[in-house]
Amino acid sequence: MEAACSKISFVDAHIHLSDEEYSECVNEIVDEAKSSNVIALISNSVDLETSVKSLELAEQYPKIVFAALGIHPWNVNNLGDDELQKTLQLISEQRQNKALIAIGEIGLDNTYAKVLDRQLMVFNEMLRLAEKLGLPVIIHSRGTTTQIIEMLPSYNLQRVLLHWFSNPINALSKVVKERYYISEGLPTAFSNGIREVVRRIPLTNLLTETDGPVRFSKPPFSGKRTTPAFIPTVVKAIAEIKKMNTADVTGQIIRNFEKFFGVKLN
Ligand SMILES: [Zn+2]
Repeated sequence: MEAACSKISFVDAHIHLSDEEYSECVNEIVDEAKSSNVIALISNSVDLETSVKSLELAEQYPKIVFAALGIHPWNVNNLGDDELQKTLQLISEQRQNKALIAIGEIGLDNTYAKVLDRQLMVFNEMLRLAEKLGLPVIIHSRGTTTQIIEMLPSYNLQRVLLHWFSNPINALSKVVKERYYISEGLPTAFSNGIREVVRRIPLTNLLTETDGPVRFSKPPFSGKRTTPAFIPTVVKAIAEIKKMNTADVTGQIIRNFEKFFGVKLN
């Protein structure tokens, strides 16, 4: 039985609220989140422009939107003059700003392997800055999880989140050993691979996300614009997999969020 009187809350630890596709409807998205009891959204950035935008959004919607700033591996080849330096500088300058809570989305993606050297250069700069400033990192590791997990111990990072962790499944033991976190989203409801990851990861290492705006063709999300209002469905799927009740699952996920990002949620 779930407690009827205690409010069940949710978090979206990875959304691209600064994405063009959301630009006309951020108010609506934040309202939808609130009415679904999603009490925190981390606006991840992909370049300098979205980093500035994420900070603005976090300042505009305090205590519900938080900013992660960084350069996504997909963007390393399209950086403008001094864009890397300017982004690093922005993060340093804003270190004391409560709206900024992580460096992300950063990482490596082997779909774009021809620019892997450049990805590595940008990733290394971001990790060095995270080390220096003591900020958590949110990492994209498509096709590169093993490589990333091998390189991370050479940095002095306190908090590492591998977002949308999918494979290889045997890397999970290292994730747990190093006390890294992973975040999972809508595929928890329909993907056997992701459900297996969720089954194996201790709940204390797990966060929830949408990675919006992405679109899924699978029910129950087919054809719908991704919003944080889908997070309760993700938590329900986690609860089924873990054979726990929703309130206990989301209670632990909220505690994980607070511990990982160093914020207290209302
Ligand atoms: Zn993302």
